[in-house]
Amino acid sequence: MLNIVLFGPPGAGKGTVAKKVVEEKKLVHLSTGDILREEIERGSALGKEAGQLIAQGQLVPDEVVVAMVREFVKRKIPCSGFIFDGFPRTTEQAKELDAIMAAQGAAITMMIALEVSEDEIIRRMLSRAEIEGRPDDTIDVIRKRIATYHEKIKVTSDYYKAQNKYYTVDSSLTPENTLRQILSIVKGEG
Ligand code: AMP
Repeated sequence: MLNIVLFGPPGAGKGTVAKKVVEEKKLVHLSTGDILREEIERGSALGKEAGQLIAQGQLVPDEVVVAMVREFVKRKIPCSGFIFDGFPRTTEQAKELDAIMAAQGAAITMMIALEVSEDEIIRRMLSRAEIEGRPDDTIDVIRKRIATYHEKIKVTSDYYKAQNKYYTVDSSLTPENTLRQILSIVKGEG
């Protein structure tokens, strides 16, 4: 199996790039942000709890997202692999993900972090907010989410660095360019 953890600040084009990698490598895409937004739309109990935290730019509790991911992985296996988009965001989630994969006789192949400047992130997200009308894309919330991301990425990337599974990709150009860089890393891994 090819199991990629895709990391990136909000607005780095993580969702778009993930979909392209999924098509190319026939993987299953798991975006915890997308699942949480679906729950909010459905008005479920989970959605109501998560909705308030997301609107404030805060992370949803580990046990909530871990349970969501465990269910999702169980449901999709057997498959040729996963791309985890926006998960794990804490060391606790990373450890739980290892356990989830090990229970299926699999492992995380690599973590890839998309890199893009803060100015470019804000520019992209404000334009996305106009198009999609997402309630969490206001300038204050965007700054808070970027700050939260920077606080969290060090811990999580250290986790994968320690396993020699950490790679970075320049995501400031086109999604196609980002895809090319990712595919060459995957190829290098064999
Ligand atoms: P995203 O679309 O990945 O940027 O996620 C949107 C929001 O959902 C985040 O700002 C968090 O509030 C929440 N969220 C998504 N994934 C996670 C996760 N792995 N852990 C905690 N909260 C998450």
